[in-house]
Parts: sequence; structure tokens; C-alpha cells
Amino acid sequence: MPISRSLPAATILGYPRIGRRRELKRAVEAYWKGDVDAAELRRVASELRAGTRARLVELGLPAAGGAVPESFSFYDQVLDATLALSAVPGRFADVDGSGDDGDLARYFALARGDRDHQPLEMTKWFDTNYHYSVPEIDERTPFAANPAWLVGQVSEAREQGVESRPVIVGPVTYLLLAKASDEAGEGFRPIDRLDDVVAVYAEILRALAEAGATWVQLDEPALVSDSLAVPRSEVLALVERAYAVLGGAEERPSILLAAPYGDSAEALVRLGSLPVEAVQADLVRGALPQAALESGELARAFAGTQLVAGVVDGRNIWRTDLRAAFDRLGALQAAGIEVVVGTSNNLQHVPHDVGDESKLDARLKSWLAFADQKVAQVAVLARGLVEGAEAIEAELAETDRVLADRAAAPGVRVDAVRARAEAAGDDDRRRADEQTRRDAQRALGIPRFATTTIGSFPQTGEIRRARAAFTRGELTQEEYHEFLRAEIERVIRLQEEIGLDVLVHGEAERNDMVQYFAENLDGFAVTENGWVQSYGTRATRPSILWGDVSRPAPITVEWSSFAQSLTERPVKGMLTGPVTILAWSFVRDDQPLGDTAAQVALALRDEIDDLVSAGIRIVQVDEPALRELLPLDAGRQADYLEWSVGSFRLATSGAEPEVQIHTHLCYSEFGEIIDAIDGLAADVTSIEAARSRMDVVEPLGEHGYSRGIGPGVYDIHSPRVPSVEEQTELIRIAAERIPGEQLWVNPDCGLKTRGYEETVASLTNLVRAAQAVRAAA
Ligand code: GLN
Ligand code: ZN
Repeated sequence: MPISRSLPAATILGYPRIGRRRELKRAVEAYWKGDVDAAELRRVASELRAGTRARLVELGLPAAGGAVPESFSFYDQVLDATLALSAVPGRFADVDGSGDDGDLARYFALARGDRDHQPLEMTKWFDTNYHYSVPEIDERTPFAANPAWLVGQVSEAREQGVESRPVIVGPVTYLLLAKASDEAGEGFRPIDRLDDVVAVYAEILRALAEAGATWVQLDEPALVSDSLAVPRSEVLALVERAYAVLGGAEERPSILLAAPYGDSAEALVRLGSLPVEAVQADLVRGALPQAALESGELARAFAGTQLVAGVVDGRNIWRTDLRAAFDRLGALQAAGIEVVVGTSNNLQHVPHDVGDESKLDARLKSWLAFADQKVAQVAVLARGLVEGAEAIEAELAETDRVLADRAAAPGVRVDAVRARAEAAGDDDRRRADEQTRRDAQRALGIPRFATTTIGSFPQTGEIRRARAAFTRGELTQEEYHEFLRAEIERVIRLQEEIGLDVLVHGEAERNDMVQYFAENLDGFAVTENGWVQSYGTRATRPSILWGDVSRPAPITVEWSSFAQSLTERPVKGMLTGPVTILAWSFVRDDQPLGDTAAQVALALRDEIDDLVSAGIRIVQVDEPALRELLPLDAGRQADYLEWSVGSFRLATSGAEPEVQIHTHLCYSEFGEIIDAIDGLAADVTSIEAARSRMDVVEPLGEHGYSRGIGPGVYDIHSPRVPSVEEQTELIRIAAERIPGEQLWVNPDCGLKTRGYEETVASLTNLVRAAQAVRAAA
């Protein structure tokens, strides 16, 4: 049993770890290149960790008592857990993990692969835009405690004078996020190994206690998800089983069991009864069990257990309504529950500091809270809990003022935009029927097994340099546009030579498929330093959607119509869909997402209209994030699907029957949203399929999918050039399950990350494969 200690009144679940200026990215990438050695990488990492701890204390988290979470990972927190459990898949057994850099070498081999090893697969972490490295588990995976990194951080913190709290992905979530390795037997599920894994966690906890850790945080977001292999009720039972063991362990730190990213209301009474010292609940996405709160049942369950109330939003960048948050904390306190103020989740999903933004409008800035501001808000609320509301009245009043200012500011509500969105009805979300469209689109002269690409062509160093020079003012707009036109012409000629049927302009003008639109729409702002880790050393800079959205001028028309002017073949106009624009931005939190999506949709609708007027006959609206935003909570999914599908249809339904609407969905796991994909009613849908060897086609066939479908035959995630035979084979597999008339032939995704040599070779083979299948049919 741990020595009973309480968490101080303020904590957070974690802090961004890439560094204010992405220092970790630079250090890790330099290490990969061999420019710095492991000792130097470790030095930078340790300096970052020290800086983070000092910053968190400066912002108001107590240095003592485990309030400061250890917030570090060289690459990914799930991969950290894999290493802590020594759960290295058998296929990596030959990676040399000995020697001074052995731990790093093994770690990065799993993350990135090498000449002889495919890396661990990456997939989305719950409903965020963060990706984790998927553990591969089987009956023989040898689990053994390897707490060296965690222990090292605890000691490092103590030397700095901070009693920090190590953070580990909890055992149930770890196994539920894992996949069965290729060596696993039929029917094996990683969660079958729970007892083995829990035993190793107990050993890790013992090592942490020996190193002087007073608290440890175990993250179990599996508790809030309906999208995992086992139903939520079973997740809760598994958590109970695991924490009965961990809580009963002889020597361990106090345990904070966290349930971030969603609603744990139904589980909270049972979680409070577990033999752990604190439980965190996300009270932004989730709610409190109101009945249990009022009846006193919740307080009884939490007797002797602290409740970390996640009232500060860790997913978004808006200043918290402190008064509303304080009221909720007060209700818990009044019910007799020992409350700690916390965040809804790890702050790894928000940028570091609003103070780092020098170009944002000052008024907009005052509405925002990045990680540093959120920590300070947590500290203020905690002071109110301890000292009483009067002690923080000045801060509460200041937030009231700022929120009122935001609500009334010009641009936040634009009457004309709102009136138009409200007037849009079902008719505006419906196109002509399928048969009419098919007939009308015959004029396009598109062959069976038509070949096309997903939109982007390789973003060469030359393109990036030209864009940077333009941004710095070294190229005039006319010079930059001249450069882009030359690039478009080159890409069009190349596609003609290769023999593709439907061409694209190549997207050279776009830094990013969302930011580009954000920069060209009213209602958005972009940041300078607002980086957020998306995976490993990769970070994105989400735009901020703060006001009513409208389109001041056409965005893509110049490029698409120029491209079309160069060729007889149809050129696809290329837009990013409303759901994806929302998913990859920080979106206003003062109205339902569906209302915001409708505004974006109307702006895109106008863009499509202008594209068509300029002679474009095919428009693709990408929605790779459609699956990502699907709520973890099954009860909220129907509403989501209605507004998300509705916004796509609102964007595209202004198109006359002869205009062919395409969409692109990146991922291949869409079982859950197959109705939604059908609901988009796009004339052609391209999806990722090469790696799964067309697995996605079967469910579509069974579903009776009747429109065009382009399952990818070329895996663009690797530089490997797929042969004609290979791609022919994939088309044949698809054609067995879906009528050939419906099939398109395309790569899995855009080509922007690829080099030209492999792209040309692969696309040439792709066109030959389509010709071969056509000839045989
Ligand atoms: N049209 C985009 C491209 O080709 C699609 C990218 C995506 O799906 N993520 O780059
Ligand atoms: Zn894609």
C-alpha cells in the first residue's frame, strides 16, 4: 500500500513535449541523420524536460506532491509503454539493443523501421489527430519490466527539486490499442494477455516507488470509447480486474487513474470505488453522473479517493469559462468529494503559448488559451477551491469580460452568413438522382477502369523554396504565380505522357490541404508557432476557426482553370471538405460543430460553382477526416453522421448532374461509417486499399454500393514501385467484388511526399495495369 498522500489542488494530465520551437524534432532528426550522437540527443531531451518542469511550477503547479506530470516522449507514448514492457515484436528480435545507444536504436527501429524491418503501424489515437505506434502482441510476446527511462526521469526531477508524476498508458488501454501480431494464433486477442501485462506494470510501479515517485498516472482512455474491440461495459470490468491487482501491489506510488477524451459518467461510481488514490474524469467532453452526485452515491464511492475534475479543455485553444468551471467544481466539493482541478486530457494536443504569437490580432489573442494559459487557469481555479471564490473574483470577472467581448466582436456572428446557412434546406443537400447523373456524365467520355490520381504531385524542394521565398517577400506575387503555372504545365504534360485519363493540377500552391483554405476564407486565423505533434517528429499548425466563415474570393479557380486550359482531358478541381477543414483546425466552441460545418460547406459550394463556370467538369472534395471525428461515444454518432454527411452534401449538391463529384477518404477502416460513405452520394470515391489488398471492396460490394469506387492500387506510403502485375492483380481482386463499370484505378492517396522518379514509374505501371484489365474484360 502506498503512503497516503494527496495530490495538491491543481494538476494537468500532460504538457506538450516537442518544445516551444520544436527543439525535440530537430534533435531527433539530427540524431537520425547522424549529425548528433545519442549523448547529445539525451542532453537536449533532458534539458527540455527540465524546462517543462520549471515552466509548470512557474505557471502555478506545486513542485511537491506529484502535481507536475512527466511530459516527455522521444516519439510516442504508446511506444514508450511498449519499451517499458519490453514488448518488442519477434520480428525485431535481431535489432541490436545492446551497447550505449541500444535502447534508442531499438526504440527508433520500432518507430521508423529500417532496411530490414517494416515499422510498427501507425494509427489515430482515439478521436484526435495524433497517431501512435501500434503494439504487436501474440501468445509469446515476452513481457518484462524495463522502467529505466521512467525511473531516470523521476530521479532527474528530484534533483531539480520537483516531485513529479510519471505518466504511462494504462494496461487495459495499451492492450486494446494493440493488434495481434502476424504470428498470433487464430482468434487471439492482445487483451487475452492482460494478467501478464498487469504483473509487469506492478513491477514498474515498484521500481518507480523505489526511485522515490510518490504518484504515477495511468491513462485509460479506453474507458470512454465505443470504438474498440470490446464493448465499454467489458472495458470497465477489465479495468476493475487490472486495478484491483495494481492497487493491491505492496510497494507502489499513489495511482491517478485517468479517463480522458470523453464521457466516463456511467463508469465513475465504479472507478471511484477502485483501490486507487485518484481518478480523473473529462468534464469537457463528458459529464458528471448527476443522479449519483445528488444521491450521495458518488461521494461515497470517492471517500478516500480524489477526483481530478477535467474542467479545462485540453483539445481546444479557447479560454475557459472560469466561472462555469468553478461552479462545477463547487458542486463536487459541496457534495463532499475531494476535488483536484485538472484538464480534460493531456495538453499535448494544443500549442505551447499564446505569448509566442506576435502576428495574431490582439483581440483574438485575448480569447485564446494554449497550454501555458491553460495551466495558469487550472492554478487559478485551484486557488479558488482552497481559498474561496473571493480570492479569484478578479480572474473570474476578467474572463467574463473577455467572453462577452468575444461574443460581441465583429466577424464572430455575420448576419448574412447565418441567414444563408439557416435557409439551406434538404433540397440544397440533394442532387439529381443517380441514373440522371450517370447519363449526364457520359459526355465526359471516361473509360472503364479510368485512371487518375488523388490530387497532389511531389512537393519538391524547388516548390518549397519558391513558396518560402514568396512568403519572405523575395518573390513577387507575379513571379510566384508564374512559377506555379510552369509547375502546373509540367505536371499536366507529365500526366498526358503517362496516359492518365483524369488529370489533376498537382496542388503545388498548397502548403497544407487545410491551412491553404483557412488562409483564403474569412473567419480563420493562422498561427506562427502553434505547432502540435501529429506523430513522431511531425507537427502541424492547425488554423483557428474563430468566426463565421465565408469566401471573400475564388480560391482554386485560377489554378484549376489554367490546368484545364492546357489539355483536352478532364482536369479535376480539388477541394478539402468541410469535415476535414474542421477536424484539422481549432474550431470555435460557442456553437454546434454542425452549424460551423454548414458555413464552410456553403463557401465550398460557391467555389464549386465558380470552378464549373470556369470549365471544370469534375470536382473532388477530400474528406479524409470523416472517420476521425466520429465520436467515441456511440450515443453521439448518429448526430455526428447527420451533420457531417449533410455538410458534404451541402457543399456538393449545387453541382448540375453533368458535373462529376469525387471524394477521397484516406483510411481503409470504415466499417463503422459505410452508410455515411454511401450517404455522401459522391459519384466516385477513392480510398486506401493497396496494403490491405483490397479488403475494403468486399464490404462495399455487400453493401450494394452502386457508384464509382477507386480502391488504391499503389501504396504511396513507401518509395517502392509496384509492378504492372501487382497492380493488375489488385484491380482483378476488386473487379471480382464490384462490377468493373464502377471501378477506378488510382493510388491510395496524394503523391506530395513522394519523389518524382518513383512516382512516374509507379503511375506508368498503374496505367499499364488498367490497360491490361480493360483489354482482358
Ligand atoms: N488531395 C489531397 C492530396 O492529394 C488528399 C490528401 C489526403 O487525403 N490526405 O494530397
Ligand atoms: Zn488520402
